[in-house]
Amino acid sequence: MHEVSLADNIIKIIKAEMEKHGIEKVQSITLQAGEMHHVEPEALRFGFKILSQDTPLEGAELIINKVPTKAKCKACGHIFQVNDWMDNCPECEGVEIEIVSGRELEILEFEGE
Ligand SMILES: [Zn+2]
Repeated sequence: MHEVSLADNIIKIIKAEMEKHGIEKVQSITLQAGEMHHVEPEALRFGFKILSQDTPLEGAELIINKVPTKAKCKACGHIFQVNDWMDNCPECEGVEIEIVSGRELEILEFEGE
């Protein structure tokens, strides 16, 4: 279950940020989660809820922004959404593609006081 280790990482990062900025309570945390990571929001929220118990992050809302996997065709420059690894460019049938989004896995922002 990689959602649990992800939740653990989020908590560690936010805790460090809270200390840095003197924040005592967190209301919400916004994440960018690329589809390539196959993050299950329910599993992540569950892991976060358990791991954040009795910490200043308890009760914080997790907002998960899914980022679709997109690729750019190296031949014609067309950018398209990838549904399958075997997808060719829909414009020119090019097979050389480069992933341009969908790999993100990061904390975008958090709100606290
Ligand atoms: Zn193309």
